[in-house]
Amino acid sequence: MAFTQFDRVPNHYAGALIQRIKDFRLEEGKRSLAPTRLPIGRLEILIPRHFGFCFGVERAIHMAFSALEEHPDRRIHLVSQIIHNPLVNRDLQERGIRFLFDEEGQRQIGDGQVGGEDVVLIPAFGTTLEIEESLQRSGIDTRAAHFREHYDTTCPFVSKVWDRGEQLGREGYTIIIHGKFGHEETQATHSHTRQHTRTLVVRDREEALALAAFILGEQNLEEFSAQFAQKWSAGFDPRRDLERVAVVNQTTMLAEETQEVAGILHQAMRQRYGEERLEHHFADTNDTLCYATNWNQNATKALLEARPDLALIVGGYNSSNTSHLVEICSQQMPSYLIENSGELLSFQRLAHFDIHRKERVFSEDWLPEKLPSRIAVTSGASCPDVLMNQVVEKLAGFYGYGEGEIRAGLEQLSLVE
Ligand code: SF4
Repeated sequence: MAFTQFDRVPNHYAGALIQRIKDFRLEEGKRSLAPTRLPIGRLEILIPRHFGFCFGVERAIHMAFSALEEHPDRRIHLVSQIIHNPLVNRDLQERGIRFLFDEEGQRQIGDGQVGGEDVVLIPAFGTTLEIEESLQRSGIDTRAAHFREHYDTTCPFVSKVWDRGEQLGREGYTIIIHGKFGHEETQATHSHTRQHTRTLVVRDREEALALAAFILGEQNLEEFSAQFAQKWSAGFDPRRDLERVAVVNQTTMLAEETQEVAGILHQAMRQRYGEERLEHHFADTNDTLCYATNWNQNATKALLEARPDLALIVGGYNSSNTSHLVEICSQQMPSYLIENSGELLSFQRLAHFDIHRKERVFSEDWLPEKLPSRIAVTSGASCPDVLMNQVVEKLAGFYGYGEGEIRAGLEQLSLVE
């Protein structure tokens, strides 16, 4: 998908090789989810149908660079990282943008150091109402139409979740948010939704099962509270507030897992209240899932069918959607989350991020020595194409292939059917 209206996205985020592959997909196999095959000598690189920048990310970057261009004389702040990619955030910081909060939510620049003359940008995953209020105290009118149009980069798919949460809250449903409690987007969704109703955050299938057990009277209040009290809104009473529920998600969660969480709660409500008034107790919210997350996850699953030997997934270590692509690939093959081509240390040694241990680790002998071999390369929704481009080139170089072989390969692109 090309987002040509976002013309302020810097050219240096693009990559010629990746662009050629995108153009090929526009000409051919547009509708097919089959990956693209790039032969480089006897090495096969497989690129999924969908990867990289989504609409919301392109839009946010476009807005940030537009603000820089239009206000060279004003101080520009971002509430926090605009998206979860270190290259993009560093780029903005080097151009003078300062972050008000760090990744842990710690305030870096005090209220008093932000004034009404400053430009403040809200990141793509949105922000909490509490942070908006603090900006208003500093003289930033976050409710003004001009602010919303030019400086609030919250993805429309995220605000759609908030709107749906508000609507369902007004109808009397408690909102269950499937998300990672500390993630900026989940914090923002929790903050917006709890203005209208009771809310509770569940992280995964296991927590959904615990919630279902409580609804069915199989878990006592004390145990339930010990597990969830930190993750529900003020005044939440599990005995009263779990009679009518609706599930929305942090848009970058595994779509399948959100559906599983909703399915578990749907079933619990059916068991508890019966079929007849099921709709009264459980609201259908399938329409809030983000298209880009779905596309990238489905394209990654299609990649598995081509049975690559290993997968490299390029993206920020803190990028939720990228880590879910790693989870999908890991079901079938060795899969490594890398930030950029600098992590391909040598043919024998790779630095990468372990999504379970949450730390950077090293793997030895990670590449197949013998050719032919198939290597899948993809990237998360916040990753500039240039980083993926550099990874493919460096990989080719490890096998002794250079520009000539890559150019020849780009002439022979095909779909893996
Ligand atoms: S992943 Fe979806 S919700 Fe998140 S920024 Fe991209 S388009 Fe928006």
